[in-house]
This record gives sequence, structure tokens and C-alpha cells, in this order.
Amino acid sequence: MAMRSSEGADLSRLNSFRVSARARSLAILNDRSHLSEVATILRAGEPSLILGGGSNVLFTKDFEGTVLQVCLMGRRVLEARANTDSILVEAHAGESWHDLVTWTLKRGLFGLENLSLIPGSVGAAPVQNIGAYGVELAEVLESVEALNIEDGQLYRLSREACELGYRDSIFRRAGGQVRWLIVSVRLALSTSAKPRLVYSDLEREFSHRHPPPSPTEVAEAVCRIRQRKLPDPKQLGNAGSFFRNPTLDQQSAEQLKARHPEMPIWPNAMNTSGFKLPAAWLIERCGWKGARRGDAGVHSEHALVLVNYGKATGSEIAALAADIQASVFEQFGVRLEPEVVFV
Ligand code: NAP
Repeated sequence: MAMRSSEGADLSRLNSFRVSARARSLAILNDRSHLSEVATILRAGEPSLILGGGSNVLFTKDFEGTVLQVCLMGRRVLEARANTDSILVEAHAGESWHDLVTWTLKRGLFGLENLSLIPGSVGAAPVQNIGAYGVELAEVLESVEALNIEDGQLYRLSREACELGYRDSIFRRAGGQVRWLIVSVRLALSTSAKPRLVYSDLEREFSHRHPPPSPTEVAEAVCRIRQRKLPDPKQLGNAGSFFRNPTLDQQSAEQLKARHPEMPIWPNAMNTSGFKLPAAWLIERCGWKGARRGDAGVHSEHALVLVNYGKATGSEIAALAADIQASVFEQFGVRLEPEVVFV
């Protein structure tokens, strides 16, 4: 059922940065039968925010409105598609993404192994088209079931309708106004293993191996690499990559490369033109890796991850982020855009 607490609700345990903030009220959606009630709450006029695992959000102050935590659970294998090795899997928005990856692998369903250990919920996955180690959700997403807040109706949006881009989708582009609430997703997975090992960290893990690794071995390697490089939000507050990798047109990329020949530049994925720069490299070059200001800091192993060492406030982390943006712009003329959503 959807429960509402009218008192100021503590959000510190509901965001992976572990910053303290309160919402005017908190509603928890854990039953599909309450979707129309939820649409009414979200339409009511006061500000509203949909929260999944809280792993991509930074609260810079208290939230003067309703926070809706989506806890819809359930996952199932739907059907095999005729004459293919493709099988549809459905998962509700409140499920943990990593648990879903593990669950599919145990059933011999492949395609998600490179996306192991990404924090957050299934419902958050299409919002920023999660990606890692050369695989994006876009490659396996079949459709999204979503509640349209305006009319209170459920729709099934095809992958094309979700307009997935580089860490982007229509669900991020509502201009601050909640328009869709993701209820469940359908993924087209495969019973055939097709290991993708193009990223150097993964390639190194298996360079000595023939035959190629199984999908479970790939998933285990991704977990090992991530645990080595990225802080566990349960131990050290963080929201994964704080900034997106900036993208450039060919001419700007060539000009930057001429000035900084050692700069790694990659072609954009998703068959889009242009190039991307690793934001972590830019930040590290500006001397921020391992920097600490009070309890707000830049992780010592990964410059793209801002961390809360204990009692940092959201605005202290935001101020650190602004200084990082300014110094990257000053040194490279490149604007870093946050991947994390500021509230
Ligand atoms: P990495 O392997 O050190 O690579 C640095 C950056 O260069 C990455 O961001 C990646 O872009 C790009 N890159 C590297 N090899 C590439 C290749 N062969 N082809 C195209 N682009 C390449 O990256 P990392 O920081 O350790 O992260 C590993 C993966 O996990 C990355 O895919 C990253 O996006 C993902 N990740 C995501 C989050 C998050 O919160 N969203 C957090 C940590 C890591 P891409 O980012 O486009 O892959």
C-alpha cells in the first residue's frame, strides 16, 4: 500500500550519499493497486520527487514536498521468442538492479553481466540508461511500463519511445516536473553467451584465457574491478559517477587532442557522432583526486566519485563539485555536467 507520513520525513537513509535532509512527506509505493492514488498525490500541485535506490541524487536542502519511494517488487521470466535465443524478463521498479543481474545469470539468461554491481533500483536503470564496460541498458531494454502522472493511466513505452541516449532518456528530461513513474521494465536477454571484453580492465582479467569466460565469470570480474576502484556506498557515502563524460564534436575533440596529446578520447557509443572525454581524467589532471574539504571529498581511487566521509552536507558536496567544474573549465575549456540530480 502507499503510506504517507505527514511529519518531516528523514531522507538520510534513503540517499546513498547519506546526507541529511527532510521531506515534507514521504509516500511509499509497494502495491500496484495504489498507482492511481499515487498519480493523484503527484499531480496535487506541491513539488514531488520519485526516489528509487537514492543512488543518483544529492539533497542540498530539505525537500518542501512529497518524496515517493518506489518499492514495487517482483520479477519473472516471460516467454522465449520464437526461433531466437531471446527471452523476455520482467522486473518491477523497486527491485535491486544488481540482484536482478545475479538472478538472470543463475537462470542462464545473459546480457546483463557487464552491468553487475551498479547501485540503484531497476526503475532507475532506464532513467539514465545505465551503462558500464561497453554495454548499455539500451541494448537489452525491450519496453518500460510507466504511469503517466497527468492522466493516471499505465502505458507500455517501447525502447524507441524512451529515447535512450548517453546516460539519458525521456525520463530525465521532464524539466523538473514528474511526468512518468516507471513501474516495471522488460528486458530481452539471451540464452547464448556473448562475452563483451573490450574495456581494458576486463580485457586484462581474461587476457590469458582461452576459451572465453562464461557470463558468470565476466560478472564476477566486473564485481572485482568495481570493488577495487569504487567505494561501497554502505561504507562511504557516494553516488557513483558524479559527472557525465563530456561529449564533443570532431573539431573540438581534435583541437583538444592537439593541445593535450596524452588525453584519452573515445568515439561516442550508440551510433551517435562525436567523441567523449573521460571526466575522471580531466578531474585528476586538475589535481582533485583524493582531495578533501571537511567531510566532502574526491575519492582517492577514482576522481569521478565524490564522497561523504561522514557529516558532509549536500551543499558542501555541491560546492566542491562547483569548484571542480570551474577548474576543469579553466584548464581545458570543457564544461562538466553532473550525472547526479541535485534536489
Ligand atoms: P575506465 O574503464 O577507466 O574508462 C574511463 C572512461 O573512458 C569511461 O568512462 C569510458 O566511457 C571510457 N572508455 C574506456 N574504455 C573505453 C572503450 N574501450 N570504448 C569506449 N569508451 C571507453 O572507466 P571506469 O571509470 O573504471 O568505469 C568503468 C565502467 O563503469 C565505465 O563504463 C563507466 O561508465 C561505468 N561506471 C559507471 C558509473 C556510474 O555511476 N554511472 C560509476 C562507475 C563506473 P563510458 O563511461 O562511456 O563507458
